[in-house]
Amino acid sequence: MKLLAISPHLDDAAFSAGGLLASCVDQGWAVTVATCFTGNVAHPTGFALACQLDKGLGPDVDYMALRRGEDQAACEALGARAIHLPFLEAPHRGYTSARMLFAERLPEDRIVDDVAAALARLLATERPTLVLGPLCLGNHVDHHVVLEAIRRSCAGHTVLLWEDWPYADREDRVAAMPAVIEQLTRETRARRIAACAAYGSQLGFQFGGVTAMTERTEKITEERFYPLDAF
Ligand SMILES: [Zn+2]
Repeated sequence: MKLLAISPHLDDAAFSAGGLLASCVDQGWAVTVATCFTGNVAHPTGFALACQLDKGLGPDVDYMALRRGEDQAACEALGARAIHLPFLEAPHRGYTSARMLFAERLPEDRIVDDVAAALARLLATERPTLVLGPLCLGNHVDHHVVLEAIRRSCAGHTVLLWEDWPYADREDRVAAMPAVIEQLTRETRARRIAACAAYGSQLGFQFGGVTAMTERTEKITEERFYPLDAF
């Protein structure tokens, strides 16, 4: 059995579905996390540069290389394999403010065509039993790009969508029935926390630090997953 989790950013799959990923590994599944937006630009400027400066990382730090390393460590904590697709995050595609990341997709932003083509190739080689992707709680434009790319490329596959975390904490319950509810155990919750802790560059911004992330994750009892065709 093979599980392919399609993550928009370097952290989403572990943040949102780390318990299920760990549980599937323990049951003998081959688990792969393919992250879409991991590409580099040599010298980021403007809002893209600000996104790393505000995390305490100077302009000479290769921010995406650092984050790819964090993802590798997170996947090792889960027992998963990491694949990094080289697409550029929204701040490198003309989205020049935090507000724009959660607004309409820009008309000139056609990256979904390239992401869908890459996912189609990945599915043809991986032939997963189950595909996971984002429900897009929080409305980040990159998450919507990935969900549309999944819709275009995953016909004939079983696809379940995770509640994007930590955005899920700020939203009402999803207006659909989950197809799968993964009850976290002490062990799978600990692996989810270990995986989340690996994304050190993101924890301050997302949670206020590793301690706050751990406290919030310890309260989570289950992960809920929804069928693609319910949305
Ligand atoms: Zn994300």
